[in-house]
Amino acid sequence: MIRATTRVAGVIGDPVRHSLSPVLHNTAYESLGLDWVYVAFEISAGGAVAALEAARVLDLVGLSVTMPHKEAVAEACDDLSAGAAALRSVNTVTFLPGGRLRGDSTDGPGFVASLRDAGYDPAGTSVLLLGAGGAARAVAVALGRAGADVRVAARRPDAAGAVPGAVPVAWDDRQAAVCGVALVVNATPIGMGGGEELPIVPVPGPVYADLVYHPLDTAMLRAARAVGAATVDGLGMLVHQAALQVEHWSGQVPPVAAMRAAAEAALAAG
Ligand code: NAP
Repeated sequence: MIRATTRVAGVIGDPVRHSLSPVLHNTAYESLGLDWVYVAFEISAGGAVAALEAARVLDLVGLSVTMPHKEAVAEACDDLSAGAAALRSVNTVTFLPGGRLRGDSTDGPGFVASLRDAGYDPAGTSVLLLGAGGAARAVAVALGRAGADVRVAARRPDAAGAVPGAVPVAWDDRQAAVCGVALVVNATPIGMGGGEELPIVPVPGPVYADLVYHPLDTAMLRAARAVGAATVDGLGMLVHQAALQVEHWSGQVPPVAAMRAAAEAALAAG
């Protein structure tokens, strides 16, 4: 029930109409008994600073930030978490007393939380990361902060070399680089939409994690299971990055299982 007391949170981005964030957040708010509602704001490139000012005037609970605004919002924040400062990218804005803006990046910590959910602790392990885009950079920083040694293979050597805290590996050497790592992470879009192409051919030994969550069971994860390897799907990262936002804004423990169930239902419904 939306009342005169209801407060608003939301996501700014473009495109944003496909976003699962409203399902994840509203499930959490309902379960926690918060008188909040979460909506998607379609804001085109260049509009982030005006959107932040509007959110402040309207006393929003907080804002999630997605493409193409993550870097512009990082510039506009007064305080950045260590992870957001390393990335110069923000996906979570918290409105502090006195009108100050705090920026966090919960994508990477969300990924690490999804690994821990699956019983895998990256501390002291070696990881091979495939791809060098925004998601890969966030995951590399969080894995480094969690104590992992990260190697990154990407088809553009300059992009691989610019991933913070990671050692670049040539894209053509990625298959050989699987030997000796404990975890392989696909941070490319290969496998999205049910494509059968593989970013790497899984061999027994490492755990295989995919950031792609549509479909949940990608060709890489199926091929990994076929050689007896453990797998982690991409929905856990999406759920946990939202759960961390709920925790930042409410101070309460988010209902991760209920959030995941709601996201799975939304994905299944198309
Ligand atoms: P991005 O910034 O566009 O980066 C994509 C990376 O993959 C780039 O390094 C790109 O290389 C590389 N790539 C693309 N197509 C490739 C191909 N055919 N062969 C080899 N490399 C290829 O995208 P992003 O935001 O990092 O997202 C990457 C994936 O993670 C997407 O599938 C996205 O849906 C997923 N994701 C999931 C979550 C989650 O919560 N689970 C969160 C964020 C993103 P070039 O630079 O050479 O194009």
